[in-house]
Amino acid sequence: MVPNVNIGLVGHVDHGKTTLVSGLTGVWTDRHSEEMKRGISIRLGYADATFYRCEKHEGEEGYSISPDCPVCGEKCAPFRTVSFVDAPGHETLMATMLSGSALMDGAMLVIAANEPCPQPQTKEHLMALELVGIKNIVIVQNKIDVVSPQDALKHYKQIKAFVKGTIAEDAPIIPVSAQKKINIGALIQALDTYIPAPERDPEATAQMLIARSFDINKPGSNWRDLKGGVIGGSLTQGAIKDGDDIEIRPGIQMQVENRTVWKPIITKVVSIHTGERKVTEATPGGLMAIGTKLDPAITKSDMLVGQVAGHVGELPEILDHLTFTVKLMDRVVGSGSELDITPLKHKEPLMLSVGTAVTVGVVTNTKKDQAEVVLKRPVCADVGARIAISRQVEGRWRLIGMGILAE
Ligand code: GDP
Ligand code: MG
Repeated sequence: MVPNVNIGLVGHVDHGKTTLVSGLTGVWTDRHSEEMKRGISIRLGYADATFYRCEKHEGEEGYSISPDCPVCGEKCAPFRTVSFVDAPGHETLMATMLSGSALMDGAMLVIAANEPCPQPQTKEHLMALELVGIKNIVIVQNKIDVVSPQDALKHYKQIKAFVKGTIAEDAPIIPVSAQKKINIGALIQALDTYIPAPERDPEATAQMLIARSFDINKPGSNWRDLKGGVIGGSLTQGAIKDGDDIEIRPGIQMQVENRTVWKPIITKVVSIHTGERKVTEATPGGLMAIGTKLDPAITKSDMLVGQVAGHVGELPEILDHLTFTVKLMDRVVGSGSELDITPLKHKEPLMLSVGTAVTVGVVTNTKKDQAEVVLKRPVCADVGARIAISRQVEGRWRLIGMGILAE
């Protein structure tokens, strides 16, 4: 079964996001060596899971991650495959979290029951979901194996108070232990109910947001066996087929007569993988890895993250400055001291997240609810795109509001 929806995992560091993905998929998404050493997710992880449901049982009982029914042991049929996008929870990695949120159709907000709620990134990530417009949310109250039932209930009330008045006000709260795999059936059922696959327009032109890019060749491999560069990400619309000619924007940076220009890349699709499976077509929902004929030097070490792929000549414009309407939040969340957010200032540097792209720019013009920013690196985006706005507060980029790209 091919995944048809992307479900994000967001929340404070160490609350159990990566463990939960592993419990639901059997894949440990922290594969990067630095991540293993430090025990935190630095890059976006992703993994697919297929869910099964035994027809013989009502409610959560029959839901499982394996074809063997957890109650009666009979073989049951798969009913859904989803892709998980595992975002890092560390406060210094908000840019990666924001970039990942562009791929999410819905999200699980993971909150550990053994710490008071909310923790700083619990707040900041929920705010990000709100700003990026992710409405389908399931709250996971994790680590219930290490708290008493009374403390779990107290913590549940803290969650309820915290989400009141937010986009997650009516989200279900599912108590689980990701590590001990307790109550996972109820979680799968909640994902089924609250994070359905979105409706897609089959006529739309293809747009793939690139979230990873790789050189998959082993060091020292024979040049005859050399494989072209691979891009990983998700289609927000349309379809890309094996053998298609594709364009990647903004592309590569070049110097032309002492000026820096960006030249779109054109290449051919030579393979498409979703999870471990080879497919002939990439469609929305699910994280895809697309093999190309590109020199792997262009794709190595995530160099193409934030760029957009699609059919030649059908992608949005490349923009080196952005004009957008601005809606700022009242206060900075995510750090100890919650400061008031003041209006944008002329010449102020901002970090803007557009799709999976994260770019820095300087405000060149600002009116009451509009701003113009000149970018260091251009982005490829459509009018109406959502922009997450971060500013430097006490030496760190902090999310302060959102913008909508204007003409
Ligand atoms: P992340 O930063 O949110 O991805 O958190 P991790 O998945 O890396 O988990 C952080 C730590 O919490 C690890 O040591 C996990 O083993 C532990 N952990 C995760 N889920 C549970 C759980 O349900 N119960 C208990 N007791 N520990 C858990
Ligand atoms: Mg993690």
